[in-house]
Amino acid sequence: MSDVHEAAGWVRAASRVVVLTGAGISTDSGIPDFRGPNGLWTRNPDAEKASTLQHYLADGELRKRAWQNRLDAPLFSARPNASHFAFAALEEREQLLAVVTQNVDGLHQAAGHDPRNVIELHGTVHFSRCWGCNDRRPMEQMLNRVRAGEADPECEICGGVVKSDTILFGQNLVADVIDAAMTAAEHCDVLIAAGSSLSVFPAANVVPRAKSVGAKVIIANGEPTGMDRFADALLLGQLAEILPTLCSLATP
Ligand code: NAD
Repeated sequence: MSDVHEAAGWVRAASRVVVLTGAGISTDSGIPDFRGPNGLWTRNPDAEKASTLQHYLADGELRKRAWQNRLDAPLFSARPNASHFAFAALEEREQLLAVVTQNVDGLHQAAGHDPRNVIELHGTVHFSRCWGCNDRRPMEQMLNRVRAGEADPECEICGGVVKSDTILFGQNLVADVIDAAMTAAEHCDVLIAAGSSLSVFPAANVVPRAKSVGAKVIIANGEPTGMDRFADALLLGQLAEILPTLCSLATP
């Protein structure tokens, strides 16, 4: 792991680290990723269809299954793991500018990050949103209605279709959120991209954006990513080993 020592030196010297995370950082918390070797879509390509906005809005039966699946989804009971805590320690040492995450699980905040420092590119499962009037409320309120017998609970205000406050395929990302992520990338001295195939855009663009301003780019993942050509250090292996090592070696 000689690369990890060199990379830790960059992190130690940095005061504006940006972390970009993907689903791979949460697999050790029991939440499967999509495209890894054991990913949901790798095992069941049909699951990708269920994640599209067009299908969710048009198909009431699909929504009923989605609400039932939410009731016992590991996303809602998962706890942060050593990788999340390693990044939270960077924030405690005041070295962290932002966490930009593609994840919707809220585990960075649960590990102790100030929610204002976590940029959730793809939203969060912990809130619901009405497609008709934009009403946003804690997901638990909606799940309680499902538990009480409503198979596909509609918006109490406008009667519209309610979904989780995540970005489905076919749905536009929120411009302000993307801007915040790109601004963070432009102001970092080190970018650590961890647990992402870096194949989903515009999230993956954080990597070349950081590189373009001269930041050191560290990519940590279990397999090659779509952005490896931009990496100053490629840390290949299990994140639960790599990230705590990287961040503790980086302690000033
Ligand atoms: P991805 O599924 O495309 O890629 C995850 C990567 O992490 C893979 O390359 C895999 O090999 C690697 N990986 C998985 N576990 C690992 C481990 N323990 N150690 C090292 N590497 C590991 O994920 P993505 O790039 O984030 O894109 C998936 C999309 O799906 C995102 O847009 C996200 O919104 C969504 N998603 C989120 C969650 C979540 O919130 N936890 C879970 C699944 C999917």
